[in-house]
Amino acid sequence: MAGMALSSLPPDSKNPEDGATLTLFPRNLVLDYSIRESARAKTVRLNMTPERGLVVVIPAGYNRKRVPAIIESKQLWIKKARQWAEDQRRQQATRPQLAVPAVIDLQSVGESWTVASHRTASSRATVREHKNGLLKISGPVDDLQACLSALSRWTGRKARTHLVPWLEEMGDQTGLGCERVIIGNQSSRWGSCSPSGTISLNQKLLFLPDRLVRYVLVHELCHTVHMNHSKRFWSRVRQHEPAMVDHRRELGESWQLVPPWLESTR
Ligand SMILES: [Zn+2]
Repeated sequence: MAGMALSSLPPDSKNPEDGATLTLFPRNLVLDYSIRESARAKTVRLNMTPERGLVVVIPAGYNRKRVPAIIESKQLWIKKARQWAEDQRRQQATRPQLAVPAVIDLQSVGESWTVASHRTASSRATVREHKNGLLKISGPVDDLQACLSALSRWTGRKARTHLVPWLEEMGDQTGLGCERVIIGNQSSRWGSCSPSGTISLNQKLLFLPDRLVRYVLVHELCHTVHMNHSKRFWSRVRQHEPAMVDHRRELGESWQLVPPWLESTR
C-alpha cells in the first residue's frame, strides 16, 4: 500500500477542487487528495469515493494550512477508506458493461428470443414480439436505459402471462390458492405472500430452471396456510416438494442466472 496514490482530479467548475499532495510517512507513502470549499459545510469533512479519492471538504474561508494536520490525525480512517475505495474500483472494473442483450433466454418456460433494435422517431422505447423468436425494440434505440426499461416491462408481461396460470395450476395440484397475484422486479426476493393472501412473484423467476420456479410457487402457496417458516410450514412444503432442501439451496445460488441488464432496471 505504500506509494499508492489516489486519482488526481479534473477541475470541476461548479465545485472547484484543489489538488494537493501530502507525505504521510517520510519514506514512501504519498497521499493525493483534494480540497473543496463548501458554503454549506460547518466543519471539515473527509470524503472518500472510488472515483475521486480523498476529498477534504472545508467551510468557506477555512484556513487550508490546517488541512494536512487534520489528515494526519485521521490516518486510520483514511487507510480503511482507501482500501474500501480500492475494492470498489476493482469491482467496477470487473463488472460487465451493460448493453442491450443479443439473446434473452427464459429458461423456466423454454423460450429464447433474439433481440433486434429499430430506430424510430418515437421518444418511447417499446418491445414487440415477432415470428421465429424475434424481439424488436423500437424507438430511441441509442438510449440504453430506455431500451433496458422497455425490455424489463416486456419481461414483466411475460412473467404475468406465464407465472399466473402456472401458480393457478400449482394451486389446483396442491389444493391451495391465493386471493391475488402481483408480478414485481424485486432485488432480493423471489416471491412473498401477504397476510391478506396476495402472492407476489418476481419476474426474474423466468430465468430460473422450471423446478425452482415450481418450488417458489409451492412455497408461497403454503404461506397462505402458514404465515411463517415453522415446522408445520416446512412439512407442508415437503408434502408437495420432496426435494425442497435441494431446491432451497439451489435457489439461494441462482441470482447469478438473472442477466445484469434486468438487475439494472427497477
Ligand atoms: Zn417463505
